[in-house]
Amino acid sequence: MRIAELFKKKKPVIAFEIFPPKPDVPLEKLYNSLEQFKDMKPDYISVTYGAGGSQKGRTVEIASKIKRDYGIETMAHFTCVGHSIEETDSMLELMRGNDLENILALRGDPPLDQPDFDFSRNVFRYASELICHIRGKSAFCIAAAAYLEGHPESRRLRDDLLNLKKKVDQGVDFLLTQFFFDNRLYYDFLEKAAAAGITCPIVPGIMPIFSTNIKTMTARSGCSIPAKLVLVMDKYADNPDDLRKAGIEYAAAQIRDLLDSGAAGIHLYTMNRPKSSRDILTDAGIL
Ligand SMILES: Cc1cc2nc3c(=O)[nH]c(=O)nc-3n(C[C@H](O)[C@H](O)[C@H](O)COP(=O)(O)OP(=O)(O)OC[C@H]3O[C@@H](n4cnc5c(N)ncnc54)[C@H](O)[C@@H]3O)c2cc1C
Repeated sequence: MRIAELFKKKKPVIAFEIFPPKPDVPLEKLYNSLEQFKDMKPDYISVTYGAGGSQKGRTVEIASKIKRDYGIETMAHFTCVGHSIEETDSMLELMRGNDLENILALRGDPPLDQPDFDFSRNVFRYASELICHIRGKSAFCIAAAAYLEGHPESRRLRDDLLNLKKKVDQGVDFLLTQFFFDNRLYYDFLEKAAAAGITCPIVPGIMPIFSTNIKTMTARSGCSIPAKLVLVMDKYADNPDDLRKAGIEYAAAQIRDLLDSGAAGIHLYTMNRPKSSRDILTDAGIL
């Protein structure tokens, strides 16, 4: 099913994001977790695409298995960084051949071993160009990424919003946000996006805090951590169990507030942790 149809029929649409394990790690552990994710009845599961196209085969393999063997709708992430037209088209063909109907179309980050990667050498320099290419030749339901605090490379928030509008205009069905820890950023962004003429659903992405490693992730993603959350992280810095519990409570409170405010759905960055995901959804009143 095209996920865009789900947004017309159901509110909220609850989605989980998982990532493929490293190539040398067997997929069995992930598949065991999927049994537990399935019990939580997500509306769909999205599967990330390794940075710079690493583990690209695994994304389609996992997304297809989730749909075929677990009966859950899926969305495959796809980044165009470093891919030729032929590689892009053969990946789209592989997805179609596996009955995948939903794609999160992204530019991607530089390959891990090339931090200074020159995106102007890419066939598709921006996600909008990839989206235009996909839309021109297929009926995929297409999602794209939105950044409440601006994409880290953007020089002005306003430019980033205009670039987002260009991306949506190429045929995006819905947007997923980068994670954030202050819901006011999301509510403000909805207003700015509406004023810019963006009318598709904008689904908030929620990243639970499980360890102080989140500081590195937020630094890379250009997301801010509110002072009250910094205090929580400092308080439990030497107590991982309590930090995990506090992280679950924080994520659940964010979700409750978002749903009370009428968010179209929740995109939970599960970090492949079914137990913690269940705790969050239970605490948030979804399970
Ligand atoms: C929900 C979500 C899921 C993600 N999943 C993955 C994943 O699975 N694998 C992975 O590798 N990465 C993933 N990412 C990270 C993403 O690939 C990076 O953030 C990447 O740096 C940007 O991708 P994009 O599609 O948002 O790029 P774009 O939309 O192309 O934007 C990139 C930058 O270019 C600017 N820009 C866009 N269009 C123009 C234009 N016409 N002129 C000038 N500037 C322009 C934008 O303002 C922005 O600064 C994900 C991000 C999110 C939010």
